[in-house]
Amino acid sequence: MPAPTVREKLAILADAAKYDASCASSGADRRDSLKSGGIGSTEATGICHAYAPDGRCISLLKILLTNFCIYDCAYCINRSSSNVKRARFTIDDVVTLTLDFYRRNYIEGLFLSSGVIRSPDETMAEMVEVGRRLRLDHAFAGYIHLKTIPEASQELIEQAGLYADRLSINVELPTDEGVQRLAPEKRPQTIRRSMAGLREKLDAAAEPTLRTKQRPRFAPGGQSTQMIVGADPTPDATILKTSARLYGSYRLRRVYYSAFSPIPDSSAALPSMKPPLMREHRLYQADWMMRFYGFEEREILAGRPDGMLDLAIDPKLAWALDHRAIFPVDVNRAPRELLLRVPGLGTKAVKRILASRIHRRLRLEDVGRVCQSIAAVRPFIVAEGWSPGGTIDSERLREAVAPRARQLELF
Ligand code: SF4
Repeated sequence: MPAPTVREKLAILADAAKYDASCASSGADRRDSLKSGGIGSTEATGICHAYAPDGRCISLLKILLTNFCIYDCAYCINRSSSNVKRARFTIDDVVTLTLDFYRRNYIEGLFLSSGVIRSPDETMAEMVEVGRRLRLDHAFAGYIHLKTIPEASQELIEQAGLYADRLSINVELPTDEGVQRLAPEKRPQTIRRSMAGLREKLDAAAEPTLRTKQRPRFAPGGQSTQMIVGADPTPDATILKTSARLYGSYRLRRVYYSAFSPIPDSSAALPSMKPPLMREHRLYQADWMMRFYGFEEREILAGRPDGMLDLAIDPKLAWALDHRAIFPVDVNRAPRELLLRVPGLGTKAVKRILASRIHRRLRLEDVGRVCQSIAAVRPFIVAEGWSPGGTIDSERLREAVAPRARQLELF
């Protein structure tokens, strides 16, 4: 049989990579090849994103080095027992494709993951070499995200950090029991040890130095991880608890939630249906509450005995409806922490409220100018000349502020 062409390999290995959701690039360094004489550039806030209809990021060349794998994780289309078409790029293939696609303006960077071939170290060494050649041989200044293999040696993972903007290590599932059951060859302790090692390197790279000394650049976009949601019965409360621990212990930039996709010939241990995509969305909203609005993970689901987020309304609104006693909040007096708990007020709106109220007392119209929908905020605040009266205690408040259910369009 003739060896597959690069185009054929690309079709297989780009398709195989689509299950990985963790490809956003926030936190990358600003670089510009005008100065370095190479090619490519990246903005401080990361590259621009485009999203496919299923919500996956498509602005990076997102591929696997190979979808051959010696492991047999039950939820993975590339597991060793899976009957999928296999392919394997050479290091040169990936470097050439990245540069060619970049020059044609198709992409702004590379997201590279891989199945495990021969051994974690050999696989990781090939991924590091892709990064090294792009950065050092071709002065590539575009974005690079490398998905590391947790079982690989710490030295190799650290080398990857010299060339990548971001590194990620997947925790795979929200609980150790889930990993043991569905990915028995993976060790949750090893995954955590790799994350801890990366955190140490990232902390060291971030420490200030004397002006005359410069530390080597090390994954300026930090580390992230991905959790599969809905492959086992773990409730949202446990998922958020795991995320809170990951953010706290390993200072992750992001935890990505990826709704489980049923795969062909899958194990009987897996559900046959995928969870509603809205569940993934609500988890991202709850995650945002922890990272930007000061919520503890246990507060978010305190009013939900089943430990699941309400799919019908966003979790910040659900929390406010369950804690009406603290509302309405006076926008002219409340501290920042309290303003951040008002449904419909984000960090930017709160910042503008705090800056404006130094000069004058704010009216409802002033708040309307800094938020997206004053109708959503109005029942929860007091402003100059405005009080919601008894609205906050109304039984119909949820109905009044919840977004109307609408039929999804087919086209
Ligand atoms: S190690 Fe990665 S590629 Fe291999 S089966 Fe597990 S999840 Fe899939």
